[in-house]
Amino acid sequence: MQHILDRFVRYITVDTQSDPTNPAFPSTEKQWTLARMLEQELKDIGLSEVMLDENCYLTATLPSNVSHTVPTIGFVAHIDTSPDFSGKNVNPQIHKNYDGKNIVLNADQNIILDATYFDDIQQYKGQTIITTDGTTLLGADDKAGVTEIVTAMEYLVNHPEIKHGKIRICFTPDEEVGKGAHKFDVKAFGAEWAYTMDGSQIGELEYENFNAARAVVTIQGKNVHPGYAKNKMVNAILVAQHFINGLPANEVPEKTTGYEGFYHLHDILGDVEKTTLEYIVRDHSLEKFKERKENMKSLVSSLNQKFGEDIFSIEIKDQYFNMKEKITPVMHIIDIAAAAMEKENIKPIYKAIRGGTDGSQLSFMGLPCPNIFAGGHNFHGKYEYVPLESIEKATKVIINIAEITANKYK
Ligand SMILES: [Zn+2]
Repeated sequence: MQHILDRFVRYITVDTQSDPTNPAFPSTEKQWTLARMLEQELKDIGLSEVMLDENCYLTATLPSNVSHTVPTIGFVAHIDTSPDFSGKNVNPQIHKNYDGKNIVLNADQNIILDATYFDDIQQYKGQTIITTDGTTLLGADDKAGVTEIVTAMEYLVNHPEIKHGKIRICFTPDEEVGKGAHKFDVKAFGAEWAYTMDGSQIGELEYENFNAARAVVTIQGKNVHPGYAKNKMVNAILVAQHFINGLPANEVPEKTTGYEGFYHLHDILGDVEKTTLEYIVRDHSLEKFKERKENMKSLVSSLNQKFGEDIFSIEIKDQYFNMKEKITPVMHIIDIAAAAMEKENIKPIYKAIRGGTDGSQLSFMGLPCPNIFAGGHNFHGKYEYVPLESIEKATKVIINIAEITANKYK
């Protein structure tokens, strides 16, 4: 346990925050620091084909130790942390034998992790909880995942009695800015399937996510001197409200959960002459997702009939798709992960992600890639925490997946 803790602390104390405003790849230079550190560590552990490429993707191989043919499998985690909150000077607090009560993160600034509000934490009574000092995020997302993969590989190198096929691992930059899969070389990775170790609470096993699109509605008004505007002016700001009100009022993020999709208006920029509305559109069902996009287009046409041709226009761009379509034909990869958890007495929690993962993009790039818990909670902020025991369990799940896969193909 101490070994895992030391490793995790070593990773989180390297600032690897990514930057959504920088088009460079990777988006921040500092991600290289951790990538190079990990490159050396993987070599020291004894992995082969350790390669850090020009885009900051670090890959390595654990060769098979069986004579029969086993599909090559992969494990993936990301090294960057969220731009939402600082990841500089992370100062982890270790709370051993957690008593189920509030945790004071920072007495000086009176920052408290409220165990009633964040009641998920109650399930970890008696465990070792790692928190922040209230001034940064923790970076368990996803350095817990990195820790688990490295530790599992190290364990397998040191325990040749555990049989496994060829295993490939990859650490990616820029996941938090949506680009983690963009320069991933699926062919060179050469795995038949992979798992991202990037979920939250212990037991999570995810292979469904949103279908996602971005829609920009532009309203072209006509600005005329207000004193002479009668029957001439078209106020784009006011007309825009007809579009906003034309969409179902209850199908918004704050009123939906589970498998319910939504339209989310997240930005308005406007004056009398021109107003733009920026939406994201989300739905797990591909059919409903298409309906939503059609619905927006037909609203534009009907409003143009009412207010005048070419006042409304819309541009819709797909962002990512539900990986379920790519996982359903290979459900054995979920069964293997579930069996790996059950071996540790962990009940798999199947949740449809209300968002996307690198794995969903990878699945559509030809690498089916469900998501497994990494153990942390309250990602992207100062209340982020992770139980050390969950990191340990996730490590065992990786080892079990390797062993179960080798046995299955005997
Ligand atoms: Zn993550």
